Amino acid sequence: MGSVGQIVRNSARPGLRALSSVPKPAVDTGKSSTGYSFELNETQKELQDLARKFTKEEIMPVAAEYDRTMKYPWDIVKKAWSVGLMNCHVPAHAGGLNLGVFDGCLIGEEMSYGCTGISTAIEASGLGQTPVLIAGSKEQQKKYLGRLIEEPLVAAYCVTEPGAGSDVNGVKTRAEKKGDEYIINGQKMWITNGGVANWYFVLARTNPDPKAPANKAFTGFIVERDTPGLTPGRKEINMGQRCSDTRGITFEDVRVPKENVLIAEGAGFKIAMGAFDKTRPPVASGAVGLAQRALDEATKYSNERKTFGVPINNHQAVAFMLANMAIGVETARLAWMRAAWEVDQGRRNTYYASVAKAYAADVANKCATDAVQIFGGNGFNTEYPVEKLMRDAKIYQIYEGTAEIQRLIISRALIDQANQK
Ligand SMILES: Cc1cc2nc3c(=O)[nH]c(=O)nc-3n(C[C@H](O)[C@H](O)[C@H](O)COP(=O)(O)OP(=O)(O)OC[C@H]3O[C@@H](n4cnc5c(N)ncnc54)[C@H](O)[C@@H]3O)c2cc1C
Repeated sequence: MGSVGQIVRNSARPGLRALSSVPKPAVDTGKSSTGYSFELNETQKELQDLARKFTKEEIMPVAAEYDRTMKYPWDIVKKAWSVGLMNCHVPAHAGGLNLGVFDGCLIGEEMSYGCTGISTAIEASGLGQTPVLIAGSKEQQKKYLGRLIEEPLVAAYCVTEPGAGSDVNGVKTRAEKKGDEYIINGQKMWITNGGVANWYFVLARTNPDPKAPANKAFTGFIVERDTPGLTPGRKEINMGQRCSDTRGITFEDVRVPKENVLIAEGAGFKIAMGAFDKTRPPVASGAVGLAQRALDEATKYSNERKTFGVPINNHQAVAFMLANMAIGVETARLAWMRAAWEVDQGRRNTYYASVAKAYAADVANKCATDAVQIFGGNGFNTEYPVEKLMRDAKIYQIYEGTAEIQRLIISRALIDQANQK
């Protein structure tokens, strides 16, 4: 498999985009860092360049077609895998590069600039892997994360159900222990990569007592796709990110060996929720990539389109809309960087991850909407790139915890802190 070593250096930066992306504030992810640094290290620059070149050459030319056909982007996934832009966080003992969350976010932002349907297809595999990354034994990591290094396969994170999204405690899928196996029955919903994953992280209730506390009631399992009784439903047709594969999954007497339990019975809720500390910063970086694209497209168009004898960006109303978009992009980027950097330092980042995820999602939606506005009638039309951005942006306020749930987490952290004083 390819790696960062295969990086093509000094890839050309598109003109306008460079304006806002060259001075990206960045930090050294090394634990020895003694203070703020706004400089990427050499490896990070290479990663960013590689991802940018990949996006420009492989993703951007086909994004509209994948959106139209809603086909899962296997071609792109396989290419991203072969150049080493997937699974970078996998530990060395499982054959991976062992990169940090920050580095993954750098890649994610670049790819999302090209198409967030495609980047979500890739990022959702990271979400499926994170429980194994944070809670898997070395054997489990070697077997399941290592498999994704050896072959271009993807994983999925299987928690949400028709009756339980924000309220994860409402999960009803049950796992019953019988001898050396667990038998899983239930129904999951909205699972990204649901129909294409090679294996799933599955959260199921193992304590039948409905009053059992969440941090004891659930267990996390690794479940192989080809286990009898596991049936993905039809591909959902969504508003945006349409090539990403979202499905319900039915579990009917699905037998899972006890070796596939993560940590132990009862640890599932903490694992499922803990994964978000590492996956919300990448979601935020994806939203920033989309917002940056909206800004660049709108800026370019506003130079070309004339009304009343001048380019539309000569009208202050349009120019200020661009300025506000830039303010959002720059500050949302700082937010994901802080959240990613905190967790890479080994510190709890739940608060920062929610700040970044909530803020970047709102910025992406505002920027995409304003880009459509700047394009006028053309913005509403599929011949131009910005209507797709607007459709794609919405999900950032919903998946991996809605905008409201992020604010719940942030406000609870503030209140807890105030109560401790
Ligand atoms: C395209 C897509 C991909 C997804 N991918 C995955 C995946 O890979 N794996 C997975 O497990 N799940 C996935 N999800 C599920 C996603 O995480 C949930 O949809 C999301 O968490 C919201 O849950 P819900 O849809 O049940 O909405 P609900 O929980 O029913 O919420 C409905 C509304 O009520 C609000 N609300 C709920 N509770 C509160 C509260 N306490 N305070 C304030 N407001 C509240 C919500 O913010 C929302 O606005 C995906 C969803 C979509 C649409």
